[in-house]
Amino acid sequence: MNTFEHVTLPQRVLFGAGRAAENLHSEVERLGACAVMVIAGSSEEAIAASVTSQITAALYYDDVAPHVPIDKAVKARAAAHEYAIDLLVCIGGGSTTGLAKAVALTTGLPIVAVPTTYAGSEATNVWGLTEHSHKTTGVDDTVLPVTVIYDAELTRTLPVDLSVASGLNALAHCVDSMWAPRTDPINQSLAVEGIRALSTGLPAIRTADPDTLAGRDEALYGAYLSAVAFASAGSGMHHKICHVLGGAYNLPHAQTHAVVLPYVLAFLGPSAPAAEARIAAAFGTPRALDGLNTLRSSLDAPTALADHGLAEENITKAVELILPYIPASTPRPVTSDNLEALLRAAWAGDPPTTEALQS
Ligand code: NAD
Repeated sequence: MNTFEHVTLPQRVLFGAGRAAENLHSEVERLGACAVMVIAGSSEEAIAASVTSQITAALYYDDVAPHVPIDKAVKARAAAHEYAIDLLVCIGGGSTTGLAKAVALTTGLPIVAVPTTYAGSEATNVWGLTEHSHKTTGVDDTVLPVTVIYDAELTRTLPVDLSVASGLNALAHCVDSMWAPRTDPINQSLAVEGIRALSTGLPAIRTADPDTLAGRDEALYGAYLSAVAFASAGSGMHHKICHVLGGAYNLPHAQTHAVVLPYVLAFLGPSAPAAEARIAAAFGTPRALDGLNTLRSSLDAPTALADHGLAEENITKAVELILPYIPASTPRPVTSDNLEALLRAAWAGDPPTTEALQS
């Protein structure tokens, strides 16, 4: 029998390659905005210039940093106030969307999000702020962008390695949704379709000639589904691990997710057979972990946390920091010993196998 409570977040989604500028213009008109603050990091500036070519902005704001440091949020809020802003338009990756959300959180300003990575923040009501190496997240519908404008053309400049890591971050939203605290048949269906789309789109990005957009378009679609599934299901064990590592040790977000995911799947898969079977079916392989490992090797995915800034001596402390956040819904008991074994394997880049992580 199905017994669940599912919430679908209200959001307008405009999807179309090459249509971002036109779609943004029509959204600004539809919302009746008079003073638009465009938020885009310095490496997203050229994209922002083309996307905003059909609107008039009151302020272009580029002081964006990973994991939304609190002082940057305070400064951006003051700028929004100074320019009497009535609409936030963020154009960029999750860091840029995160800054817009931090402004929306205290000002109530609406956001139109134009994502340029596969991070998925644009489709969630989750905000994050970092202060003194501690990342705090919260859920507030005020920060959910009213509209998301997806345009695969904008992801052309995202380097292939970063596209792969970012796409695996999206895939992690899907996999973790299968056992997250509010998992249900609706968000699981979105997650499964997200896995299918990402596992089709990402290899095409790795192998395609630079002019081919189909893989990027499919990955963007998968990234949106992954974020909707994640917003609905909540954060599972995988996200709690990555969230703590990112905040405490300033690790790069997408690469951290890309590395940790196979270890969490190896760790939890055998304890969640129904979820494991659905993930495997989405990959089109007999076992979920085989599907993920095959995809990861075809993508030349990041393999070890040691390569992305985690020092080995921080592992014991990281285990201590992560343990209190492990959700009760996790389908297997998590102890300091088995979590430490998982983190040590992910740190070293040991082959992710179920056998190695079942003791
Ligand atoms: P990012 O936004 O930091 O982007 C990585 C780098 O790529 C940046 O230098 C950026 O300027 C550049 N970039 C982005 N798009 C580009 C493009 N098209 N071409 C060239 N360069 C481009 O990284 P991210 O992985 O997108 O986002 C990570 C952040 O998002 C983290 O802080 C994470 O916590 C947050 N996040 C939040 C949620 C949520 O629901 N709140 C969900 C996912 C991620």
